[in-house]
Amino acid sequence: VSFADYHVSEEIKRALTVLKYKTPTEVQREVIPLALENQDLLVKAQTGSGKTASFGIPVSEMVVWEEKKPQALILTPTRELAVQVREDITNIGRFKRIKAVAVYGKEPFKKQKDELQQKTHVVVGTPGRVMDHIERETLDLEQIKYLIIDEADEMLNKGFIDEVEAIIKKLPSNRTTMVFSATFPKDIEDLCLKYMKDPTRIEI
Ligand code: AMP
Repeated sequence: VSFADYHVSEEIKRALTVLKYKTPTEVQREVIPLALENQDLLVKAQTGSGKTASFGIPVSEMVVWEEKKPQALILTPTRELAVQVREDITNIGRFKRIKAVAVYGKEPFKKQKDELQQKTHVVVGTPGRVMDHIERETLDLEQIKYLIIDEADEMLNKGFIDEVEAIIKKLPSNRTTMVFSATFPKDIEDLCLKYMKDPTRIEI
């Protein structure tokens, strides 16, 4: 299998060539076709497996450039990961001119608010700051169609799980949800079963 075989636009394929991604990794082979069909997914995968592009490619493909409100929300347990995911999506979506914004604590709220006010397709952030933006109405969730929870087990370890659930409750229910985690402890399982639609399980 090569990326040329996927039902993704030339803009995305060209970006993958620039990134020198030639063949999809195992998690990408499993996730991309199902994500492109809007299936909810529970994915057990480690860092380094290529998991970011496994959701970054379908999300970049599916967002509609003309839409003015954010269409995908990606939650991460750390700001470092938020910044990395924002970079990866920006690179994958470069020829589609996809704008991804990262929001996280310890950076001025105002700077992020100004960024979110420009046309933003994808928002990546840590739960606390994402919730701040929701409560202060600087993040509009009305058009969110994709929710990705990355490193869900770390969310649990850091005590962010209640905040994650509070965010999920604010999202439109007509959406696709993908959860990535190295392990699936009971609290994560329960959260997933509560808010996902018949998720397909993938284990790498
Ligand atoms: P991740 O697991 O998402 O942190 O990705 C690990 C590393 O693999 C990152 O440096 C990616 O840029 C790289 N990578 C992801 N997918 C591919 C691919 N299909 N071919 C080559 N490198 C990749």
